[in-house]
Amino acid sequence: MSAPTVEAARRALTARLKSAAIESAELDARILTGHALGLDLTGLISAAQRQLTSDESARLEEFAHRRLAGEPVARVLGEKEFWGLPLQLSSATLVPRPDTETVVELALELLRAGGDLDRPLRIADLGTGSGAILLALLSELPAAQGFGTDISEAALQTAAANAARAGLSDRATFIACDYASGLAGPFDLIVSNPPYVRSADINGLAAEVRNHDPLAALDGGADGLDAYRALIPQAAGLLAPGAALVVEAGEGQSTQIEALMTTAGLTPATAPKADLAGIPRALAGHKKAR
Ligand code: GLN
Repeated sequence: MSAPTVEAARRALTARLKSAAIESAELDARILTGHALGLDLTGLISAAQRQLTSDESARLEEFAHRRLAGEPVARVLGEKEFWGLPLQLSSATLVPRPDTETVVELALELLRAGGDLDRPLRIADLGTGSGAILLALLSELPAAQGFGTDISEAALQTAAANAARAGLSDRATFIACDYASGLAGPFDLIVSNPPYVRSADINGLAAEVRNHDPLAALDGGADGLDAYRALIPQAAGLLAPGAALVVEAGEGQSTQIEALMTTAGLTPATAPKADLAGIPRALAGHKKAR
């Protein structure tokens, strides 16, 4: 049997993904075919009529197999773009979500309002994972120094590789510790997207999340707030006067997180920032100015 053309292979994969009820079949097939062939969209179009080599066919079949078994496209590719930065993933890191860009936006808005964007800021990202939030911030803050923590050494290795790829290694330090326990202040900004899913809700998450994102990055304990109870008091002790803690929140958690901020001596910002679905997603708490 002669090898299929690039176009035929892509169509055949689309059909297989569709019959497996994968909603984004068309897009997934295009991305996976491109990745197997090392071609971007334009390259795929101009290669449409040539035949696949046997290596390409084998690679595409492996990707198809993994996607059909329920792996998200980002896991098959081993990378995901966040804030325009291509980030490598590992089994120790979440796939960065577009929702989390809301945290970056709010943090930058607060710094901009204070006229602080160009200052030599010290910023910390607690539970940095792939480094997504920290590296996005460093890419926007030319004089900032960033510190990312994680209890997973494997995640920190991924974050360090991502810093290197983004050309940010000289301004990013990664430290193995629980939230802020290994950090010395003061910080001009602290950010975190901690695990916030209630333990009992883990089983109800989409299979792509439940089976492929690390449990330690999802499970927030019985009420989903364990991580905030640990990190908010730590952060409050390390913030410079007037500086902010910005955290990602799960749906419906804002009021409780704001109460934890208040108890720790932080003043919650007037309104949480909503994500693209309109869910309050990023919350800030300010330390009193001196
Ligand atoms: N947003 C993730 C999800 O619900 C959870 C990430 C987190 O716990 N920080 O899939």
